[in-house]
Amino acid sequence: MTAAGGLWRNWGRTEAVRPQRVERPATPEAVQRAVQAAAAKGMRIKAVGAGHSFTGIAVAPGVQLDLEDLTGIVDVDLERGRVTLAAGTHLHQLPQLLRPHGLALTNMGDIDRQTIAGATSTGTHGTGGSFGGLATQVVGLTLVTGTGELLRIDETENAELLPAARLGLGALGVIVDVTIQCVPAYLLQAVERPEPLHATLESYVERSAGEDHFEFYWFPHTETALTKTNTRLPLTAGRAPLPSVGRWIDDELLANGVYRGVCALGTVAPGVIPPFSRLAQRLTGNRDFTDHSPRVFVTNRTVRFREMEYALPREAVPEALAEVRALIERRGWRISFPIEVRSAAPDENWLSTAYGRETGYIAVHRYYREDHREYFSAVEEIMVAHEGRPHWGKLHRQDADSLRTVYPRFDDFLAVRDRLDPERRFENAYLRRVLGP
Ligand SMILES: Cc1cc2nc3c(=O)[nH]c(=O)nc-3n(C[C@H](O)[C@H](O)[C@H](O)COP(=O)(O)OP(=O)(O)OC[C@H]3O[C@@H](n4cnc5c(N)ncnc54)[C@H](O)[C@@H]3O)c2cc1C
Repeated sequence: MTAAGGLWRNWGRTEAVRPQRVERPATPEAVQRAVQAAAAKGMRIKAVGAGHSFTGIAVAPGVQLDLEDLTGIVDVDLERGRVTLAAGTHLHQLPQLLRPHGLALTNMGDIDRQTIAGATSTGTHGTGGSFGGLATQVVGLTLVTGTGELLRIDETENAELLPAARLGLGALGVIVDVTIQCVPAYLLQAVERPEPLHATLESYVERSAGEDHFEFYWFPHTETALTKTNTRLPLTAGRAPLPSVGRWIDDELLANGVYRGVCALGTVAPGVIPPFSRLAQRLTGNRDFTDHSPRVFVTNRTVRFREMEYALPREAVPEALAEVRALIERRGWRISFPIEVRSAAPDENWLSTAYGRETGYIAVHRYYREDHREYFSAVEEIMVAHEGRPHWGKLHRQDADSLRTVYPRFDDFLAVRDRLDPERRFENAYLRRVLGP
């Protein structure tokens, strides 16, 4: 995201907009005033997080609310292990904020640049067959509705709105704070291994259920999967972190630096991609370490890419991935980015990609200077045939009609939207497409 000359761009460089007005409220009351002022002028208004969605979900052509001044801890309930965070708090701020209270998030995605409200609103998830995405950790939130009302939603107040509001796509209001159910801080023991792809696919469903956090990457043009198995341990187990030089070589030099060069070269000489992929899978993915959970969950991504990710019924993942592999071979594409496969527990949030089913995720990526469209659309056809649900923050071509068929509570969500935002104060082109007018 950049704001040079008033131009806002998302991280993936797929969206850009020059908002008519940018406001930076520092209190919930200031957010309320901003929504009321926009309503009085008949303008649309939208909160933006860290701009890490690849879709146009955060695009705000009218009033853009920048919540960089609405960060930090609002309240801690030590007895229940709950923390209320101002909506603009970035995930990377959490370890420092939670450490004094001995708390941590129960699961996290690959990066921590996002804001808590942005990440939960789009269904950001990590991996773990028995663990839900970030929105499942939300036990309450406060939002400003389309009519400018400050509304608390939790188990005791307006509880019936929780399954919609925890993961609301920014369509129900501007969230000013989020209450998260945390867990006592813990360590993760990470085991990363190259393994044969076919055996990994065969064991994927079982390992997703049996391990705490299992995922794998497959570099197209190779026979190898890089598996990551993270096991939760108490703090008393003791850290055995990666030496910082080793971490730098793996995560910065290889995963980002060399990779950036190859991706750039691959755009003009695609032939370099298969040999590099074979080299990359030989050099990476064979290490063991134990560290604080955020240091294991999170990686640093500095090579810019575009991404599409679909949630499938978990047992469909091996077949769907085999179809993607056959597709890449048939079309002769040279794909430099690995395909990432993860999992999540079923949950009850109406627009969660894991709503009501054991879920597996398949994510495809492309370097941002390459044209992703042909690859993504062909993969999307495979995903849709397996009853896939697209990640709300990652590229896809679905609309309200097709999404209604894979989300049983879709119309219930729309009814809540009608109630909280009758004038469509928070609408933008993306929301019109995926939710309808
Ligand atoms: C490099 C990279 C890695 C990623 N890794 C993962 C991953 O591992 N797992 C995963 O699931 N996703 C991942 N994502 C996707 C990302 O987590 C989501 O798109 C997330 O929404 C981005 O959060 P953000 O703060 O940038 O929100 P934005 O993209 O800025 O906004 C997202 C939505 O939230 C709304 N919003 C923001 N703040 C508020 C508020 N206060 N009130 C109401 N609505 C609000 C916006 O209006 C918009 O609708 C990744 C993205 C990138 C670029």
